[in-house]
Amino acid sequence: MTVIRQDDFIQSIADSLQYISYYHPLDFIQAMQAAYEKEQNPAAKDAIAQILINSRLCAEGHRPICQDTGIVTVLLRIGMDIRWDSNMGVADMVNEGVRQAYKDPDNILRASILSDPAGKRINTKDNTPAVIHMEVVPGDKLEVEIAAKGGGSEAKSKFIMLNPSDSIAEWVIKTVPTMGAGWCPPGILGIGIGGTAEKAMLLAKQACMESIDIQALQVRGPGNAVEELRLELFEKVNALGIGAQGLGGLTTVLDVKIKDYPTHAANKPVAMIPNCAATRHAHFVLDGSGPAQLAIPKLEDWPEISWAAGETARRVNLDTVTKEQVTSWQPGETLLLSGTLLTGRDAAHKRMVEMFERGEALPNGVDFTDKFIYYVGPVDPVRDEVMGPAGPTTATRMDKFTETMLEKTGLLGMVGKAERGPAAIAAIKKHRAVYLMAVGGAAYLVSKAIRQARVVAFEDLGMEAIHEFVVENMPVTVAVDSTGESVHHTAPKIWQAKIGKIPVVTE
Ligand code: SF4
Repeated sequence: MTVIRQDDFIQSIADSLQYISYYHPLDFIQAMQAAYEKEQNPAAKDAIAQILINSRLCAEGHRPICQDTGIVTVLLRIGMDIRWDSNMGVADMVNEGVRQAYKDPDNILRASILSDPAGKRINTKDNTPAVIHMEVVPGDKLEVEIAAKGGGSEAKSKFIMLNPSDSIAEWVIKTVPTMGAGWCPPGILGIGIGGTAEKAMLLAKQACMESIDIQALQVRGPGNAVEELRLELFEKVNALGIGAQGLGGLTTVLDVKIKDYPTHAANKPVAMIPNCAATRHAHFVLDGSGPAQLAIPKLEDWPEISWAAGETARRVNLDTVTKEQVTSWQPGETLLLSGTLLTGRDAAHKRMVEMFERGEALPNGVDFTDKFIYYVGPVDPVRDEVMGPAGPTTATRMDKFTETMLEKTGLLGMVGKAERGPAAIAAIKKHRAVYLMAVGGAAYLVSKAIRQARVVAFEDLGMEAIHEFVVENMPVTVAVDSTGESVHHTAPKIWQAKIGKIPVVTE
């Protein structure tokens, strides 16, 4: 009988979470490199370059790929012949491993988990609890699949109960464009088909954790209906032209993974969960001989890519920039920002807008006049870092605050990731402001541009506090210009037409 010791299990959970925070899976790197080589849209190619450069830096520096270090999901297959040498429950051991990983002083990870989700939403401070699924199976081993799933991509999860005669491909092709770019493509689509509603969702999550192998399937050809569907969806989703970060281009998905399960004759449940540019998962088996040993990848496994876009980019001094200059920026243009930026995301926006409603002034030190706000919740710094990984968060969540912020504060514009919705675009146009996009999933690279950082208000909000950053040459793309033209609307249509496999419908 195999004996699994408590300390071995806890250490394996902690080690694997640290590991996936800075090492992309090798299959992901290879697929992303292939996408980089193939890409023809310069803006999308540039975004993929930043993701790959960031990935290599993280592998080298052992720092998180993304500032959102995810919600931990663990799938356990527990052999029936295992005996636990432990005085803790299995879930408690997993959570102790999560706690140790996220509070590791050498590579502190961002705590993003909130208790009381429908109410006070209070940060648990150590990223616990994990979401844990357990299955008891024959055998004497403990199999573990572990992932740290970004909130931006998890937010785009979809589910539908189709009629048995409905087309799954049709639903997927109709639904992917509604997910926008907040899931930080290119990534992987995990699809679960069958079972019941909750089973389909779990299948989709398990599918996300599988390795990328679509190229092998393309070579050998489909052997069943699921493989046929994978190939069809891979081609059609990429033909949508959404591209890296929604900037338009040839690669939106690196693979489409599908898992299925028998279902009721009256049902056809389908779940779809995207996995983002910060795809993070590891698999290991404990056999009683000690903690998991995760293979250390070689740095040569990462391509060496030089970032060329900076040579032609417009340089912007954030301390002297004027409204007139902002209105001359073109959609899709690359800018390098230097100077002072203020940060703020969901909780800070909510609090500021409530202060305006009560007629209160913003706290001392918070003056947005002729400034930009960066939507970010950074990771705490370690060692000699000024700031930990600090990539953009999804801007769409700030749409409802945008009109008030532009009207009341004198802001020139905003920096975030993904597209803006109609209300935010209307506000940007009205105030002749601008929305700039940084690359989601290139957080460590962005943090290298931060020269100084300090908290200026709302310290109690932790990573959501308002910081003042002094940046140097921070790369961004003009995503909505001062006339309200959005690259996330125009570019995918252009690339969908160029790819030419799906008709473009214009509004
Ligand atoms: S890559 Fe994007 S979706 Fe993924 S964790 Fe980072 S910010 Fe979130």
